[in-house]
Amino acid sequence: MNVLPINHSRAGPSGDLSKLACVIEISHGRRHQEAPPSYRSEYQRDRDRIIHSSAFRRLEYKTQVFANHEGDMFRTRLTHSLEVAQVARTIARALSVNEDLTEAIALAHDLGHAPFGHAGQEALNKCMRTHGGFEHNYQSLRVVDELENRYPQFKGLNLLFETREGILKHCSRTRAASLGPVGKRILEGRAPSLEAQIVNLADEIAYNHHDIDDGLRAGLLTSEILMENRIYQNAYSSVLKSHPDSNEQVLKHATLREMLSCFVNDLIESSISRYQAHQTPGGVLDPKLNIVTFSDSLNTEHTALKKLLFDNLYRHPKVAQNNTLAQEVIQQLFNHYIEHPENISDPDLPSTFESDLELSTYIADYIAGMTDRFAVSKFNQLFSPRRMV
Ligand code: MG
Repeated sequence: MNVLPINHSRAGPSGDLSKLACVIEISHGRRHQEAPPSYRSEYQRDRDRIIHSSAFRRLEYKTQVFANHEGDMFRTRLTHSLEVAQVARTIARALSVNEDLTEAIALAHDLGHAPFGHAGQEALNKCMRTHGGFEHNYQSLRVVDELENRYPQFKGLNLLFETREGILKHCSRTRAASLGPVGKRILEGRAPSLEAQIVNLADEIAYNHHDIDDGLRAGLLTSEILMENRIYQNAYSSVLKSHPDSNEQVLKHATLREMLSCFVNDLIESSISRYQAHQTPGGVLDPKLNIVTFSDSLNTEHTALKKLLFDNLYRHPKVAQNNTLAQEVIQQLFNHYIEHPENISDPDLPSTFESDLELSTYIADYIAGMTDRFAVSKFNQLFSPRRMV
């Protein structure tokens, strides 16, 4: 099998690593020094801190596309994050990069998401318009750097630089400039580590596939619509040919599995050939090179699939209707708490706020941290009798 060149001095618990993998010997470390863990790698420690965080547990009750109350079978932000981690680890292992780091970034990548999925993010962004907007990637970094409050020695989780840089993914230049070294990559226009590049695409692979699955389950997508996409069509025909007697339910699962493998395998093989053409750290970090990416032909189908989902699922009237309700909840909660921050039950509630920016950021942090059902319950308490679901 074709693999990335190995640097044998980098043998680790997961085997030999590529010379461009992130390894602890060249890490930029943690913001607060700590003794190394006894039985785990530093990157495993990051992953474990993320899993034990409050923000991670709250992902269980945050919408991916379909709201929690619509059914127990739909993906949530939590199951989405687990699926991203699973896809990302497969790719990281095949490319001989740091699997533990990849997993940590994947599990943390959506920690900053507001309740109610994309609609909640848009609503909070509007509320924060005069204060630089709300950006969920930047918020994910705030969660692990500032908002988790569980260690006596420091605020946040004190994660490694490479984990934090991978979580940030992108943000405005103004915010990047305020972040010190971890924002430098964005200001300099450099690509992130291979591990972070893998998570970015594993995220897309995971949500395309589970959104199709959930969309079919909800009856908003049909196999006729999906057959317009060549990859779906090929996968379905191939599965049907091998298993003509399977029922529709099994065919659907097999088709999605086939598609997922097609995307993951293409990404691995295409990334290996691009990497081999640009075997220098400068080459890998050049944003124009896109080392971790699909082949050109799959990329075309990937773009077509995203458009198909956008037109038929994300903009479906049923999804849009929930979005309108979600936006109203976020907007009203924000307006209320700006006037009455004392109504927030927080033992660390500041007695005064130095500026509008400080107050708005505090309220946005509070609302972004809410689960869907907590936001709805606060909305009902405050604005009863206009009760939501
Ligand atoms: Mg995601």
